[in-house]
Amino acid sequence: MRRRLRGTPMERRTSSVLSDTIFCLVAAGISTLLTLPPNACCLQTGADPPRSGSSFRSQRHVVVVGGGVGGLAVAARLASSFTAEEPIRVTLLEKNPPDRLGGRCGSQSIHVESHGTFRHERGPSLLLLKSVYQDLFADCTGGESSAADYGLTMDQCIPAYQCVFDDGDTIELGFPRSAAGVNASATEAASRAKMDSYEAGGSKKWDEYLAACSAFLDCGLPNFIEERLDLPSFPAFLYESLRNNARAWPLKPHSDVLDAMFDNPKMKALASFQDLYVGLEPYRNDREWFGGIFKKSAPAVFGLLAAIELHPNNDKAGVFAPRGGFAAVSKALERLARDAGVDIRCDTTVTRVTDTGVHVLSSNGDKEVLPADTVIVNADLPYATETITKQDTGDAYNVAYDWDDSYDFASGVVAFHWSTSKRYDNLNTHNVFLSARNRSEAEQSWDVLREEGRSSNYDGMEAPFNFYVHRPVKTDPSAAPANCDSIMVLVPTETLQRKAEHASLAREEAVLRYQEQFDNDRIDIIRKATLKRMAVMPGLEDLESHIVDEILDHPGTWADDYNVAAGTPFALSHGFNQLSLTRPTIKAKGFKNVWYIGASTKPGNGVPLVLLGAKQVASQVTKSLKNQHDFVAEDERQE
Ligand SMILES: Cc1cc2nc3c(=O)[nH]c(=O)nc-3n(C[C@H](O)[C@H](O)[C@H](O)COP(=O)(O)OP(=O)(O)OC[C@H]3O[C@@H](n4cnc5c(N)ncnc54)[C@H](O)[C@@H]3O)c2cc1C
Repeated sequence: MRRRLRGTPMERRTSSVLSDTIFCLVAAGISTLLTLPPNACCLQTGADPPRSGSSFRSQRHVVVVGGGVGGLAVAARLASSFTAEEPIRVTLLEKNPPDRLGGRCGSQSIHVESHGTFRHERGPSLLLLKSVYQDLFADCTGGESSAADYGLTMDQCIPAYQCVFDDGDTIELGFPRSAAGVNASATEAASRAKMDSYEAGGSKKWDEYLAACSAFLDCGLPNFIEERLDLPSFPAFLYESLRNNARAWPLKPHSDVLDAMFDNPKMKALASFQDLYVGLEPYRNDREWFGGIFKKSAPAVFGLLAAIELHPNNDKAGVFAPRGGFAAVSKALERLARDAGVDIRCDTTVTRVTDTGVHVLSSNGDKEVLPADTVIVNADLPYATETITKQDTGDAYNVAYDWDDSYDFASGVVAFHWSTSKRYDNLNTHNVFLSARNRSEAEQSWDVLREEGRSSNYDGMEAPFNFYVHRPVKTDPSAAPANCDSIMVLVPTETLQRKAEHASLAREEAVLRYQEQFDNDRIDIIRKATLKRMAVMPGLEDLESHIVDEILDHPGTWADDYNVAAGTPFALSHGFNQLSLTRPTIKAKGFKNVWYIGASTKPGNGVPLVLLGAKQVASQVTKSLKNQHDFVAEDERQE
């Protein structure tokens, strides 16, 4: 088996020098000289950037820091709202090379000698809330082009999931039906029979549970996530919340509602594994106030995630796979942004953000000040507040890696991307391996989210744990050569533990120190335990011997690749202390013209939520620029 630990900082720096130089000459040089106004870019060392000069007062300049989905989407929305009366020029700066645009969202192709090319996802593999993706393309093109026109085709995965318990038992979930109701397929019938074998009336209870979750989704999405009042959704929400003596009351810990609705630990596990995606556990934690719903225990309202993925006929539901992998998502967003006129500059690290612009360090060492009327920071918020938006008096071009650890974070993740010389048809596109032999083991399997991200269980990986397995070949055979497979395993782990003394180190040094928290011994333990668990599934017994290549990601590499705080791929968790009104706001505190977009700000983590956030930020920034514009016009009249 060939193993690669992707991209240590040192390796990447060496390998990218040539492309850095060429790209900087082309992107920074040409765009600076030809497309930017003469006063928009100036070599300086330390002083705050001047405001865009009076001769360009009418053309507002927005700088976006980071080319993740949040940065690309907000840039595309703003640039496409350009009008002759209120022109906006948008520049997007991304620290990584062009093939990493999209940030955490994208794919990577690996050529393995004597086998061929395998495609693995860098991050997301579940495409949810399809209409949110579609709306972005329609909005930015005035309805003239669709996501498909930009190369983004989304295929529904049916069934949505396969769940594999640690006793080898499997069950499939997520069978879409037309609103009129169609007879269940043989697979769905088998799944319902299995639920009935877990407990009497199991499948009927499942339907009732999904009905409540669907009402939470219909009300929660517009009113609390999109922040758009939708009164008609409230009656069903209240009915489902209050009926049967408020059995499904959405503000209780999720496990209280699961306990009221189901008897069998497997049914409870099936109904709640999505809580992981918002960085929470389903079980009440009696060591915390209110059962932990203000910390790491999910309130029952997060059953709406089960509805998003599994409800048979809610029109927002369904798990989709982008054809060609999530690279198709990031490529489509990049094209949309470029078509709208966004100037995208890669290999460009922003080192400081002020109300009047940004300080920039190119990968060839060039220092630059870029004035802006508005700056939108897509870099992860808890990292940004301790590094680039922190207003200290030191060197404005210092590159650091640190984060604000006063927040609660989602779990860390170790990702194994295995290219295999054999096909594993027993795996679906999306699979979750769950521990639920009994209540105690089910609760322990979520331990990684307790104790502030430190878990004693993971020392030997003897205790139960849950994980996710993606096999894209099931829906898209282009992901691996014939008779081969491409398998991604995501194992939740602890996050990086912040060390105050690393804050003063140069970024590369700090990242190397943090990477030591996930050394080879640690990774070997996780790999071994994961393969052992996977082997309980019939057909997977020989998986290890057919792995011909491994790409590894862990909190230390997420930190290095994208500057994510605590190395967590899933951002801040979404307990009530960091949800909706209590989540860090999109307007940066202490600044007039600085905003945030991304997974750690409102509304939250996951590509569709970040895309919804981009819509909100673009709308607020447009209003704010309009005010600046009116103010300047007034100024000019007075002059
Ligand atoms: C393993 C994994 C699995 C996931 N699964 C799913 C899933 O199935 N479905 C789903 O919807 N979501 C999933 N997610 C979450 C989803 O990927 C994120 O919510 C989303 O991509 C975050 O986008 P963003 O724009 O907020 O941040 P990012 O993608 O982190 O973008 C921020 C960008 O800023 C850049 N940057 C940082 N600092 C600087 C600087 N100083 N100067 C210039 N640039 C800078 C970074 O390089 C990065 O490109 C998953 C994530 C991971 C990692």
